[in-house]
Amino acid sequence: MKWTEFGPWGKRAADWAQEYHRTIGDRPVRAQTQPGEVLSALPATPPDLPEDMEDVFGDFEAIIMPGMTHWQHPRFFAYFPTNATPASVLAEYMIANLSAQCMLWQTSPAATELETRVLDWLRQAMGLAEGFHGVIQDSASGATLAAVLSMRERALNWKGNKDGLFGQRPLRVYASHEVHTSIDRAIWISGIGEANLVRIPVSGDSRAMDASALDKAIRADIAAGLQPAGIIACVGGTGVGATDDIGAVVAVARKHDLYLHVDAAWAGNAMICPEFRHLWAGIDGADSIVFNPYKWIGGQFDGSVHFVRSPQDLTKTLAISPEYLKTHGHDGIINYSEWSIALGRRFRALKLWFLIRAYGLDALRDRIRNHVAWSGGVHDKIAATPGFESVTPPFLSLFSFRYAPEGVDDLDGLNQRLVDAINDDGRIYLTQTRVDGKLAIRFQVGQTDTTEKDVMMAHDVITEIAGGLET
Ligand code: PLP
Repeated sequence: MKWTEFGPWGKRAADWAQEYHRTIGDRPVRAQTQPGEVLSALPATPPDLPEDMEDVFGDFEAIIMPGMTHWQHPRFFAYFPTNATPASVLAEYMIANLSAQCMLWQTSPAATELETRVLDWLRQAMGLAEGFHGVIQDSASGATLAAVLSMRERALNWKGNKDGLFGQRPLRVYASHEVHTSIDRAIWISGIGEANLVRIPVSGDSRAMDASALDKAIRADIAAGLQPAGIIACVGGTGVGATDDIGAVVAVARKHDLYLHVDAAWAGNAMICPEFRHLWAGIDGADSIVFNPYKWIGGQFDGSVHFVRSPQDLTKTLAISPEYLKTHGHDGIINYSEWSIALGRRFRALKLWFLIRAYGLDALRDRIRNHVAWSGGVHDKIAATPGFESVTPPFLSLFSFRYAPEGVDDLDGLNQRLVDAINDDGRIYLTQTRVDGKLAIRFQVGQTDTTEKDVMMAHDVITEIAGGLET
């Protein structure tokens, strides 16, 4: 395919996308294929000669599409969403066309300067204090790893990269069990080691870390000759939305001079609505915060927004500047690759710029407010249905429930069968989690085109399918 043929194919792809989104609600949400089905439909060896684009496109529809789970479906209530607004998808198309490698200021000054500006727009939109600086990381996992490496280096007086960890006092990091597994992985990869990730017990409906237990654990570690390095708090944990009391955690972090990273990958989106900001009161005392705009406000997947108090903590940890990456003759420029683990950087800021300008913050706020209200409505309806019980109340638009008819011994087994049957049915998509050891069904509302009717329909699907299960 040549660029001269691109126009008609680009138009065809755009028409396909518009029709896909118009009819997406007619498809089963979760792919209904069996393991190996797509693989066996694909030739085992690659073509030596060019194939007709017509055939490639035809196979995309015939082989690939049936094996797709439709994340943009209005009745996608599983995991957290990756909701993509059309304006941000269009930006992604422009990004692909430019295919610029935006690692340094000089490799695309517009990409760097747009990233600076648009992340400061988001900082303001979320009510964060001046003095936070933003960078777009590849993922929340990447942002958390960068933060954990920063806390490690700060604790080691910036010598860990050079000297390694061998022979050092063990570094200690504190978090609850409710944090996402990206935190565990960052601890593994940073060399701190899982044995040094100290789990602090949680309490209350919000499943917040007990701040006095946190303080006690830090003091005990210091007394034992270990070296506390940092704390990781969560706002809107993946399982059921666990949320630490950020103000209380900040106070402990300040007392012991520890680096505090806050994972708000999903719930951070809601902070564009002032009425939800009490959920992370005290956030201005954090050193580092991550949220994923694709998890709710509709910035096309992928890209994570990482705010830091001190970019120097990142650059002292990650910047490396061989001659071939130097920009001579310009002072005060930012090379965002020095704030990140990967050198190569996509032009992700464009998606956020298109998103915010095409819709305006008010429309994004309205969508979040609607989702929260509709989630509360369906939660109450499920909780009031005989045989069902609420397991965790709504946190923003996420809650969990359980089918618990009387006289059933194996409720975990029954609820897993219910999730599987719902997803095989295909009208809605839900996933399970464990709450205090018991299997519960998660429900979150977050898709761009979801309506109240879609959300309420979920109640009918759940109760209809539950009624058909053998107990
Ligand atoms: N943190 C939370 C709370 C999450 O829910 C997730 C993913 O769902 C992550 C971190 C990891 O995000 P990413 O896939 O961007 O690494």
